[in-house]
Amino acid sequence: MAGLIERFQAAIGASAVLTAPADTAPYLTDWRGRYRGRALAVLRPATTAEVAAVVRLCSETGTPMVPQGGNTGLVGGGTPDDSGRAVVISLGRLRAVRTLDTANNTITVEAGCLLAEVQAAASEAGRLFPLSLAAEGSCTIGGNLSTNAGGVQVLRYGNTRDLTLGLEVVLPSGEVWSGLRGLRKDNTGYDLKQLFIGAEGTLGFITAAVLKLYPQPSAKATAWLALTDPAAAVMLLAAAQARFDARLTAFELVSASTLALVLKHIPGARSPLTTVPVWSVLLELSDGGSQEELADALTAFVGLALEDGTVIDGALAQSQAQAAQFWALRENASEAQKVEGISIKHDVSVPVSSIPDFLDRAGKALAIAFPGVRIVAFGHLGDGNLHYNLSLPEAAANAGLIDRQAEANRIVHDLVDHQLGGSISAEHGVGQLKRDELTRYKSPLALELMRSVKRALDPQGLMNPGKVISSTI
Ligand code: FAD
Ligand code: ZN
Repeated sequence: MAGLIERFQAAIGASAVLTAPADTAPYLTDWRGRYRGRALAVLRPATTAEVAAVVRLCSETGTPMVPQGGNTGLVGGGTPDDSGRAVVISLGRLRAVRTLDTANNTITVEAGCLLAEVQAAASEAGRLFPLSLAAEGSCTIGGNLSTNAGGVQVLRYGNTRDLTLGLEVVLPSGEVWSGLRGLRKDNTGYDLKQLFIGAEGTLGFITAAVLKLYPQPSAKATAWLALTDPAAAVMLLAAAQARFDARLTAFELVSASTLALVLKHIPGARSPLTTVPVWSVLLELSDGGSQEELADALTAFVGLALEDGTVIDGALAQSQAQAAQFWALRENASEAQKVEGISIKHDVSVPVSSIPDFLDRAGKALAIAFPGVRIVAFGHLGDGNLHYNLSLPEAAANAGLIDRQAEANRIVHDLVDHQLGGSISAEHGVGQLKRDELTRYKSPLALELMRSVKRALDPQGLMNPGKVISSTI
């Protein structure tokens, strides 16, 4: 393999081939520190041509490849296995904004651009790139595309798939498929880009994308509201949608246990209300009109909800800084959970109308199976998507709970999939974490179709082996 390292060095330069343990370490573990792997080397190509060159070498030598972007994924998708045979190929140096077309409302960016950089480039041109998630300062657009990331504005603008018009992909053979078209209409056969979006690096390397832009809103109004139960939150959502339609851009749910963890672990975090509500909703409106009018509209809406009892208390942000404080409470939920300690994580979706039923039934079943279990539930209620974490406050007992992850998954996932018609992976993907769960919840036909696609595009099985689907045979 020494010869192979030299060939990688010749293709992309010696400094872009990392082999020293101190250099490779950050690429060999995931954000939560849950997975750890080994690799022959970490490769850092800087252009599509360089990606293609190293992929051709891997294809020729049968070397497994693990794509990696910002490494913020929560399902172990970017971590290699422990065989030490694979190379991690980091797309982080493909960082150019290639073009921005304000008349077509599109931006063409390379895969390693941070999400925050894409947002900033759009904003400088007076446009909005609406994908928004807590990891936006470190995740890459290539990772967002590969996981079909969701985030806090899906309710209004859709997920990454909905924001994508074209892709450039380096295939496992090293060939480059250029589908970088900024078209809103194109019915020329199979929509190939859709295969790579959400494929978690199992079908090829996304190297660039054409993304949709929107008008930049001129007004925003944000409220933190206290509710007694999730059913009230679902009612409030319906009322807000009826009243505001597309002006409703975020509707997030936060349980008391989640807010308590954020207040405990995140410096400077303060509850917007005098107490920690049993359930909180973070609601945001935005539009292209006047700030005052939008704030008044929200005040009137919240006033009615207080009157009819849907909402029991509430705070309206009086400034952008205060709105940012509200958002920090929601966006630091994953961080606070991480600081608190390891948990069994679920990322599920059900029809919005079934959210109260899900919370009620899952909560009761888990309390019986795991007495004292702490449920930290929060998420994108407007999309029917909850992050649902289980832990026990005391470390030794918690370790025992983590060992029983399969049992907990059975309770949560069977309820979600079999009984409520939901999904066991709403926005984080499958990676390693849910690979085996998938075989339980996808039909044999669906699994076989997935394997057929995988075999057709990656006949040697070199792309991100062991992720998403366990075997192609
Ligand atoms: P990585 O973690 O590097 O990779 C993710 C997967 O994509 C891996 O399987 C990898 O092999 C593959 N991959 C990466 N780049 C490429 C490429 N160019 N071509 C092919 N395959 C590639 N996710 C949400 O959807 N919504 C949220 O609200 C959200 N909030 C988060 C909050 C926090 C605090 C954190 C830490 C994570 C959150 N995530 C969320 C998860 C994560 O940020 C997203 O999955 C993100 O899209 C991953 O991007 P990344 O660049 O870090 O990808
Ligand atoms: Zn989320």
